[in-house]
Amino acid sequence: MDYDAVVIGAGLGGLSCAAMLARSGFKTLVCENTGQVGGCCSTYEYQGYRFDIGASVVELAWVIDELFQRLGARTSDYIDLIPIDPIYGFITADGRRFCYPVDVEETGKVIAGLSPQDGKSWERFAKVGSEAMRKAFGRVMTRPMGSMRDMIRVAVENPSMIRFLKYFLLNFESTLCRFFKSDVVRASMCLQSYFVGLPPALCPGYVAFLAYSEHEGVFYPRGGMISIPKGIARVFEEHGGEIRYHARVRRVLLDKGRARGVELADGTAIRSRLVVSNINAKTLYLELVGEENLPSWAKRAIRSYEVSMPSPMIMLGLDARPDLDAHHTVPYSTLDFMNRIWFEDYLQGRIPDFGAGLISWPTRSDPTLAPEGHHILNMIAFAPYQPVEGDWDSIKEPYLERQLEVLEKQFGLKLKDHIVVARVNTPKDFERMLLHPRGAVYG
Ligand SMILES: Cc1cc2nc3c(=O)[nH]c(=O)nc-3n(C[C@H](O)[C@H](O)[C@H](O)COP(=O)(O)OP(=O)(O)OC[C@H]3O[C@@H](n4cnc5c(N)ncnc54)[C@H](O)[C@@H]3O)c2cc1C
Repeated sequence: MDYDAVVIGAGLGGLSCAAMLARSGFKTLVCENTGQVGGCCSTYEYQGYRFDIGASVVELAWVIDELFQRLGARTSDYIDLIPIDPIYGFITADGRRFCYPVDVEETGKVIAGLSPQDGKSWERFAKVGSEAMRKAFGRVMTRPMGSMRDMIRVAVENPSMIRFLKYFLLNFESTLCRFFKSDVVRASMCLQSYFVGLPPALCPGYVAFLAYSEHEGVFYPRGGMISIPKGIARVFEEHGGEIRYHARVRRVLLDKGRARGVELADGTAIRSRLVVSNINAKTLYLELVGEENLPSWAKRAIRSYEVSMPSPMIMLGLDARPDLDAHHTVPYSTLDFMNRIWFEDYLQGRIPDFGAGLISWPTRSDPTLAPEGHHILNMIAFAPYQPVEGDWDSIKEPYLERQLEVLEKQFGLKLKDHIVVARVNTPKDFERMLLHPRGAVYG
């Protein structure tokens, strides 16, 4: 055997697993298709600007701390996490602006200014959210959930989860509506359902508490989002791990039904006792393992699994400071609107015409990402893989124009005159770059 373990993909998941294996004494190799670590949590330099290509902030930073602890290391020795405050700035269609600071009480005051009744409800929401994080969702997040047995064990170990069970059964929308009555307040907390790739009507209720958990701290890693996987990769290499770049795995080698290594696109065979995959499950089983090697039930199951939504991203390098108030800005969209653009646009193959779901301004937190005095904005939306408007490669320019126009008209955000660099990372680009089928962002 060449290695004890081969990990396919140097995303956050692959690197974390590889580092744990290396720390446990396994001779481990990570094979990565691109020339750098990070996958969806990565940063690329273009004409002097460092653009994040996916993730834009770190929430629940204790998960990273726990990983580093398990690796016998300390996060702060590897990653410099800059606190973000305020968490969000909002722009309503009539030009009103407000922000949610990290401080829970201060946020309560902002909400009370929008709706006194909801100001009170926020206290209740934050209390339930905080308890749920500590007693249920948070504790469950770092436990293995690979089988029904694992799930039962987690439930038995965490009996207080029962109290929060209803939020697993309710949807996001009804959870939010149980607490808040004002449309503006509901609107300020509904984007989070898309953080797991679903509209409020289809997303599980517990996700709504992200609007609280963000108040436990949101961070940006100095140097760009790639600093997180780079930090994990450093610990991995200190434990003797190896990363091979530009090493696309095209096949998992099997021996009597067991994975015993990988074959790279250039034909190199690497033998190992274990193979760990960090790539899309559909690609892994249907292409790398091969349908012919799967039992028929597994073939049916994996074929039936739908990949998540794609997320086109506009990246702008600006020669001036944008007129915004926070690292993340959310152009106002009601709950109803957030559902409609899913059912009436996205599922019908149309590109939702709403500017951007989220505007990320990383240079507000880390100015070194752009030349002095310049700034970066990343505008994240969602749209179908094959829009009726035309193939993504041919509609990049009109897409960019339209999104900028909507932002200017609806939210008074004038960016056009300050654009030095503009890039559109379409679902097709995402697929070509990270090999995510149909540009799916969440697997
Ligand atoms: C637009 C967007 C915004 C997001 N925002 C946030 C956020 O703000 N905060 C947050 O916490 N999370 C966010 N996320 C989610 C987060 O980025 C991802 O959940 C996480 O990075 C996924 O990591 P992963 O290791 O599972 O997979 P990936 O990052 O997809 O890593 C898979 C790796 O495998 C490689 N690979 C694929 N196929 C092969 C092959 N055949 N051979 C070799 N290598 C291969 C890829 O190149 C890639 O490096 C966002 C995601 C996206 C896309």
